[in-house]
Amino acid sequence: MDCLFCKIAAGEIPCKKVYEDEQVLAFYDIDPKAPVHVLFIPKIHLDGVRDITPENAAVVGHILSVFPVVAAQLGVTDYRVVSNNGAQAGQSVQHLHFHLLAGRTLGEMG
Ligand code: 5GP
Ligand code: ZN
Repeated sequence: MDCLFCKIAAGEIPCKKVYEDEQVLAFYDIDPKAPVHVLFIPKIHLDGVRDITPENAAVVGHILSVFPVVAAQLGVTDYRVVSNNGAQAGQSVQHLHFHLLAGRTLGEMG
């Protein structure tokens, strides 16, 4: 499949890695929207939150469990977790990912 984040997960495209295990990869966003902007992806391909099912939800729970680890590693206590789904919501890469945004006051959602 021609998927940018699958290629990053496979090491075919380089990234600035923050955390990795068998299921998840976290790396710095190439175009940061905050002083700290890290992307968390499952190594398996899911298009987005819309692809989460009871059968694969464990990987999402695992990804979320890595957030406190990475936040501590980066020294941030206050952060926002975002996942855009669909073009109108701002999704530009069709592989499930969660943004960690920190390091500045984050305004209201919308
Ligand atoms: P989305 O817009 O789908 O919510 O988030 C996709 C994110 O991926 C964007 O914030 C964008 O800056 C980031 N991004 C796009 N291409 C690359 C890339 O090749 N490397 C990295 N590290 N981030 C990327
Ligand atoms: Zn993918």
